[in-house]
Amino acid sequence: MIWTGKRVTVAGLGVSGVSAARALARLGAAVTVVDGGDGERQRETAALLEKDEIAVRLGDGDTLPEGTELVVTSPGWKPRSPLFLAAAEAGVDVVGDVEIAWRLRGPDAAPWLAVTGTNGKTTTVQMLAAILKAAGLRTAAVGNIGTPIIDVVLSDEPYDVLAVELSSYQLHWAPSVRAHSAAILNLAPDHLDWHGSMQAYAADKGRIYEGNKVACVYNTADPATEELVRGADVEEGCRAIGFTLGTPGPSQLGVVEGILVDRAFVEDRHRNAQELAEVADVSPPAAHRHPAEEGAPRPQPVAPHNIANALAAAALARAFGVEPAAVRDGLRAFRPDAHRIAHVADVAGVTYIDDSKATNTHATQASLASYEHIVWIAGGLAKGATFDDLVAGAASRLRGAVLIGADRALIREALARHAPEVPVVDLDRTDTGAMAAAVSEAARLARPGDTVLLAPACASMDMFVNYGRRGDAFAEAVRGLGSERADRG
Ligand code: ADP
Repeated sequence: MIWTGKRVTVAGLGVSGVSAARALARLGAAVTVVDGGDGERQRETAALLEKDEIAVRLGDGDTLPEGTELVVTSPGWKPRSPLFLAAAEAGVDVVGDVEIAWRLRGPDAAPWLAVTGTNGKTTTVQMLAAILKAAGLRTAAVGNIGTPIIDVVLSDEPYDVLAVELSSYQLHWAPSVRAHSAAILNLAPDHLDWHGSMQAYAADKGRIYEGNKVACVYNTADPATEELVRGADVEEGCRAIGFTLGTPGPSQLGVVEGILVDRAFVEDRHRNAQELAEVADVSPPAAHRHPAEEGAPRPQPVAPHNIANALAAAALARAFGVEPAAVRDGLRAFRPDAHRIAHVADVAGVTYIDDSKATNTHATQASLASYEHIVWIAGGLAKGATFDDLVAGAASRLRGAVLIGADRALIREALARHAPEVPVVDLDRTDTGAMAAAVSEAARLARPGDTVLLAPACASMDMFVNYGRRGDAFAEAVRGLGSERADRG
């Protein structure tokens, strides 16, 4: 594509918008960034861009600048935003940063191993990058994570392969991306306000398989993912590869007696399976010992969904030709990001786990399934979710529940319907200090051997800036608990 003089409008002054604007301006495009906001942050960013001769229009994100030939979106802008409707009307293409990155790749650029799904994308892409690195390949985890993908594609760094996390938004606006291989981890209702319907959401996710060369990886426990493979238009010879927490069939990866096993990419013709790693290799790191506690923290079980994520990452790496030993070494080296089933501390025999990133019911279901006796801290912004299935499925493992946040009544009502025996503390608070109160209520309900689990099933923005701050508030409150005990003791 010729960029010189091309009139491009970038929607949004966020990280990906700024990265796209700078990259396209460097290539000679005439770039205008538009943003509905007009606050201090926007003005500061605008001033910096204007120094590089990038035009910025603040306070109006709706009207299409005269003469626009291409619009570049940012995540969060809905498909039916007035700017995009105006572009459609004018016959102007709308694409996302991932599409731009794809179009900017050189002929010998690194192939992409791509991952999407409702939950587990970041974890899986990081596991994949760790495996690829263990195999001696030059790689980076990019996409909906880390450095903006355009910057990575245009950098001088020589990559052998990229591990690319793609959100449903990014897939929606990236029609020409063709991955070497791709995985859909799972599909559950989320972001339906953005996509309009479950069908539209699934169709956007399914785009990740289009044009795959070697493997389309799906979850055998989630038939919707397999259906999307069947419907995909792929290159000849591209295989459907399943992953399962059970014994794998042919063309699948799975688990046999605590060992991750590959029955899809077996090099030795005399064997029908290849051992990759032990489940224990996926173990979460232990927390630091709490000051008020003696002895080492209790070892944590491997959450089943993280075994699934490891299998998906292994499938993509194996499709790229990575040896089994590198899968094992990579999984051992992998460290999860914060706030994803993070072990905060053991206090008085009770384990405290921060899964603040569980912002929807699907993720929370996975975390509730990972422990036996749980005091559950939940609540926040429900984003239109219902909680009946979640609560009914977890009722037998709940020791108690502590509810916070704007939409806590929805969870309280579901608990009353499906788990009437479970003691519930409804904190009726949405201030930031509510987390400390929630933790001390949870500590009161918990018995030695129990797990206090922050897995809110809701977004955090009613009380916190983001899920990270919510998790930090939890961890701080847990540490406070310890000192209370120490003071008393
Ligand atoms: P994403 O990038 O898709 O948001 P993350 O890896 O950041 O995914 O994890 C998001 C949340 O989902 C965390 O609470 C995590 O514990 C949970 N989770 C991770 N993998 C899975 C999975 N395969 N199935 C269900 N929940 C998962």
